[in-house]
Amino acid sequence: MKVGILGGGQLGRMLALAGLPLGLRFRVLDPGRDVAAAAVAEHVVGEYEDYAALADFVSGLDCVTYEFENVPVRTAEWLAQRVPVFPPPAALDVGQDRISEKVFFQKLGVPGPTFRAIGDRAGFDAALAAVGLPAVLKTRRFGYDGKGQRVIHDAAEAESAWDLLGGRPLILERLVPFQRELSILAVRGRDGAESFYPLVENHHRGGTLRKSLAPAPGLTPALQTLAERHASAVLRALDYVGVLAIEFFEWNGQLLVNEMAPRVHNSGHWSIEGAETSQFENHLRAGLGWPLGETGMPRPVAMINLLGLLPETPDVLAVPGAHLHLYGKAPRPGRKLGHVTVTASGSEELKTRLAALERQLPQEPH
Ligand code: AMP
Repeated sequence: MKVGILGGGQLGRMLALAGLPLGLRFRVLDPGRDVAAAAVAEHVVGEYEDYAALADFVSGLDCVTYEFENVPVRTAEWLAQRVPVFPPPAALDVGQDRISEKVFFQKLGVPGPTFRAIGDRAGFDAALAAVGLPAVLKTRRFGYDGKGQRVIHDAAEAESAWDLLGGRPLILERLVPFQRELSILAVRGRDGAESFYPLVENHHRGGTLRKSLAPAPGLTPALQTLAERHASAVLRALDYVGVLAIEFFEWNGQLLVNEMAPRVHNSGHWSIEGAETSQFENHLRAGLGWPLGETGMPRPVAMINLLGLLPETPDVLAVPGAHLHLYGKAPRPGRKLGHVTVTASGSEELKTRLAALERQLPQEPH
């Protein structure tokens, strides 16, 4: 069977790496010439709205998935008329606009920060009054990894945020004084079966994920159950198939939703070595209508992204429990070039091994 992936980045590459042992073959569509997934998949070079390229891409495929959430919805729908597409294009539609996503969560009873949609300057002033400060101004569409957003503490920052972002459809959100950021990875099969990975604690640098700890230290069954309840509501509302990531802020024992990604997710990379079944394999199992794999984890793990600079391979491999994943990408400031998963038998050993790994990693200037 051959699976198509829209996007040929590292997520596509890791999907293919998980699917090859199951007898699957892969083809990616990506406008870039030199893409990470091309080492393990056929590569059709084409734009996502080029229907001639899409016809080439889909010919002979058994199903299609995607590795980024800004896939044009019309493209996903066009493909869905020809082969099964998972996750459902409706999930893209909801997630591509921050307002529709937040309204969707509200309707499901999943709490999040106070927000207002902004169309013009008068709307911005009204939103500032309604939401209060501090707040975050974000573009409604095509924001990722903290790009297209500004934190506002006072009137001067409001002016500069407006100068930078004004003129586009925006959203103003109350800044949550969270204790930490958590995410859950959930998977739903074609038959409606659901499984959940343990909540993960995420640490960012400059808006980009730097480190994930799995499970989140001190995770209580009550918090896990709450996250699963929220994720399950989203999965069922979208008649979802595949892996879904939801990011939360933990604040005074509550989970406030930040956003979702209808795809495999950076905060789930730990699952390759850390869980019985990786998020990549489970995404494929779900989409192909196969039984889902166990999501349990026998031991704590951590994942560190390699951002901008590459370490020496032997230095990383010298750290006990370290597993190196390079994406075959050329170094560029801030770019996700790979990740390292660290496994350990317990939390103390994990701390020691993480510290040893950090000493081997080159640090980008902030
Ligand atoms: P986003 O692109 O929405 O995921 O935001 C990127 C990062 O900005 C998040 O991971 C948080 O660290 C921070 N952030 C975004 N929205 C809020 C908010 N309403 N309150 C506090 N921090 C936020």
